[in-house]
Amino acid sequence: MTDTELYAALKHYFGFSSFKGLQEDVVKSILGGNNTFVIMPTGGGKSLCYQLPALIKDGTAIVVSPLIALMKNQVDALRSLSSEEGIAHVLNSSLNKTEVKKVKSDISNGITKLLYVAPESLTKEEYVDFLQGQTISFMAIDEAHCISEWGHDFRPEYRNLRSIIERIGANIPIIGLTATATPKVQEDILKNLGIQDANTFKASFNRPNLYYEIRPKTKNVDADIIRFVKKNEGKSGIIYCLSRKRVEELAQTLQVNGLKAVPYHAGLDAKTRVKHQDMFLKEDVDIVVATIAFGMGIDKPDVRFVIHNDIPKSIESYYQETGRAGRDGGEGHCLAFYSYKDIEKLEKFMSGKPVAEQEIGHALLQEVVAFAETSVSRRKFILHYFGEKFDNKTGEGGDMDDNMRYPKKKHEAKDEAVKLLTIIAKTNQQYKAKEVVNVLVGKANAMIKSHRTDAQPYFGTGENKEASYWMALLRQLLVAGYIRKDIETYGVIKLTDKGRDFMKAPASFMMTEDHSFKQANDDAIVA
Ligand code: ADP
Repeated sequence: MTDTELYAALKHYFGFSSFKGLQEDVVKSILGGNNTFVIMPTGGGKSLCYQLPALIKDGTAIVVSPLIALMKNQVDALRSLSSEEGIAHVLNSSLNKTEVKKVKSDISNGITKLLYVAPESLTKEEYVDFLQGQTISFMAIDEAHCISEWGHDFRPEYRNLRSIIERIGANIPIIGLTATATPKVQEDILKNLGIQDANTFKASFNRPNLYYEIRPKTKNVDADIIRFVKKNEGKSGIIYCLSRKRVEELAQTLQVNGLKAVPYHAGLDAKTRVKHQDMFLKEDVDIVVATIAFGMGIDKPDVRFVIHNDIPKSIESYYQETGRAGRDGGEGHCLAFYSYKDIEKLEKFMSGKPVAEQEIGHALLQEVVAFAETSVSRRKFILHYFGEKFDNKTGEGGDMDDNMRYPKKKHEAKDEAVKLLTIIAKTNQQYKAKEVVNVLVGKANAMIKSHRTDAQPYFGTGENKEASYWMALLRQLLVAGYIRKDIETYGVIKLTDKGRDFMKAPASFMMTEDHSFKQANDDAIVA
């Protein structure tokens, strides 16, 4: 196919005169029958990457997608591009016998170019048997990060895709697409789909128009949110909360303060959910206060702010959720409230889960702590997390975060760092963060007394500083890799090799001053 023909097809099916970003290269890779891996942020235009080749190529492309609602939207959009209804179909458990028959005959007759299926439907013998006899142009795995336990939305059914694809037909090209791929997730996807040879296309994850800000979460968080929203009155915004209860409470608080807000969470009945979503889309209300149940597939281009009442459980989730702001390229303020107490809450939720899952969960949370407490550019941190280099001087949006606009002060804390690490060593690395801090400030609890630690000469040697100072230092040492939290012992602090080396020959340790986290830190200390 020549370029002229390709552009003609683009215009004919989608009405676009040019490709967006890496689309053209991706489309050509797929048209060439290659295994292809596409990593593009939400809104990057992934759908067209496989839809256009599917429309051009002979046979039917099978698209695996995890969400029925999203599949329906896609199918409706494709049908509107064509006079032929059968051009796209969904195959899932909601279809009756007649409907399944129609889908099958459209595929057999070469009418259907795209067939959307949920991974669990693909495991059905009946469907696999049928698809074996058909011309399949390629298999596209949308939201491919669902394959990886390191992704933010792991789905075990995605693990079996490779073997199912092999049963449907040998040599079917496989296309993986995702909007979240840390290098780790990326590796899992390629390995699991067996496409290490894939042509890989990765778009930049930088969202230059988004402003990132983290504020300490105090008891006054309601007032802080109200003040922010009032300042931005009339603009569309989403406020994410961890629990349904908090969603209800906060939505009410905003309402009694004269702000136009509605709640959204999975505990509301379907009718109310649709109603509230519509009110937001049609701008009858400005704000949706929601759990993470809200947002998948919502395409409101002018969301001007996303507030996190609670810090999310991974950087991926944070990126996805904040990514719903400023899709039109206009202003997008991303404000998250952070308290270490919330991290402890999230850690508690994980206990009781299988050890492997806990380990992953803890590692992801540790990154969130590092992100929230970092003094480097937040944009740089996020992009680094996604395996991308970013230079604040030359990169777009280089000054668009709180740390770049209002740099935090730092001071030399070498002596204090040594003191803290020494106490961990002297107490035989058997205490969690709170006990380490208590030993430093000379506060004895039952466990400390039972070990007679309170009778040791080092007990209370840090009492010239507040507990919150030591807690902040401890976490900065954690982030810098001088100590680590042991998972098997539920968070006991251990020294790392780096920490031991530092104790032997202490060099500089620049501690970020952030007294604004004081309240949050104080709250975290219990004797
Ligand atoms: P993703 O799946 O990566 O989140 P979508 O496929 O939903 O992104 O595309 C995002 C938006 O970009 C859609 O509104 C789509 O119509 C638009 N779009 C995609 N490709 C092009 C293009 N080549 N030219 C103009 N707009 C495009």
